Amino acid sequence: MSTSPTIAAKKVCILGAGPHGLAAAIHLRRADPDLDVVTVDPSGEWLTGWHEQFARAEIDALRSPIVHHPAPGPYELSDFVAERHLPRSGLPYDPPTAVAFGSFCHELVAAGRLAAPLAGRVEDVRREGRGLRILADGTEIRADHLVVATNPHRRSIPDWVWPLLGSRPGLIAYGSDVDLRATPDLGGRRVVVVGGGLTAAHLACGAASRGADVQLVTRRALETRDFDTDPGWLGPRFLHAFDNDDDPANRLRTALDARGGGTIPPWMRTQLDALADRGHLTRNEGRHIRAADVGPDGSCVLALDDQTTLLADHVWLATGTTPDIGAARCLAGLVADAPAVGGLPVTDENLRLGPHPVHVMGRLAMLTLGPAAGNLWGAQRAAMRITQALTGVDLQHRSVVPVPPPPQRSGPRSGRR
Ligand SMILES: Cc1cc2nc3c(=O)[nH]c(=O)nc-3n(C[C@H](O)[C@H](O)[C@H](O)COP(=O)(O)OP(=O)(O)OC[C@H]3O[C@@H](n4cnc5c(N)ncnc54)[C@H](O)[C@@H]3O)c2cc1C
Repeated sequence: MSTSPTIAAKKVCILGAGPHGLAAAIHLRRADPDLDVVTVDPSGEWLTGWHEQFARAEIDALRSPIVHHPAPGPYELSDFVAERHLPRSGLPYDPPTAVAFGSFCHELVAAGRLAAPLAGRVEDVRREGRGLRILADGTEIRADHLVVATNPHRRSIPDWVWPLLGSRPGLIAYGSDVDLRATPDLGGRRVVVVGGGLTAAHLACGAASRGADVQLVTRRALETRDFDTDPGWLGPRFLHAFDNDDDPANRLRTALDARGGGTIPPWMRTQLDALADRGHLTRNEGRHIRAADVGPDGSCVLALDDQTTLLADHVWLATGTTPDIGAARCLAGLVADAPAVGGLPVTDENLRLGPHPVHVMGRLAMLTLGPAAGNLWGAQRAAMRITQALTGVDLQHRSVVPVPPPPQRSGPRSGRR
């Protein structure tokens, strides 16, 4: 018999206290203030990872518009910013500053009287009767429903990296591990940033502002786009056809094509151009790194496909991540019963995972919500659907509708958005 502490009869358990987990918690709270909800996250706090990502790469403003955030009402964040007279980003389309977004989320937690997440990493989830038994660092939680908002993924690491692993510390780093705050001076250092997305661009700017000689290497020509996903994917313009495509493999291809590789907004291109003009940054666009090695002086030697060579003291990989439900090891006992394509679960329209009382959010919801599922827009959409499925409350239309019956196993995804 288990001697681990047990938290009795929690009705809904949310895994992960990032923006998606917060969206689930606040939507559920608004729909049913009496609902018993527990959130679990290793940090024991809300949005730790999010704030850390922004601070490390010195990102001052979000990329997405101000109507996208974890709360149900589209204008809640813009009203908050206006009421508090918070500074605006000044960028095209007025995305919120990271500080305003953080304050707003803090206020959501306080006003919603959301409990601090339980500090723990969920290691195992099992069916127990009609409910679930969740194990987090030795604490047992029993829940009727589980919402997975852990953003499980695999880092995309190019093959040429392997010979560099285990070499000098700091020679090669994954982009999200680079902490610009911890590297105040890069004067005279050669930094190669690999990747064509906004994280790569922020890291390149951060390195250049610290005096580094920066080389940016991108597989394609740098692509400029206001948002990372075309806004047509946030409404019926593109979603209508996506929704009506019953083949999950097609939907996967469509969603991945729509996201494409990394892109940067025009204002960031202007910044990179300015750095290039001043000689702080060189762009190697449409270039593939063929091989990498450590030179006799401990620097990195990168061979490009145009026969040129780059020497680097630091190589930072902003090469992205791939969502994969298989990376959520705690769900291993459940995913066998849930269809998946390319690492993404094929859910019903309520984002339910197979026959289990488990719902997914974030990029795991991409086959149902489309390519923007992992963004804040997706957090709002997923939270609305899951809330309606669990409580019967349609927050989008502020009305109460009957709780739909559990989906049949034979129909993993049907119906319209
Ligand atoms: C630098 C950057 C900037 C971005 N900017 C924007 C933007 O401006 N607009 C936008 O719409 N999107 C943006 N995104 C995309 C997306 O919104 C973010 O990636 C966001 O953090 C995803 O939220 P999430 O809650 O799904 O995952 P995460 O923020 O990754 O949170 C997941 C949480 O789950 C926890 N967790 C993991 N495993 C377990 C476990 N086993 N048990 C318990 N907890 C666990 C983690 O510790 C973490 O706290 C950005 C992404 C990045 C990387």
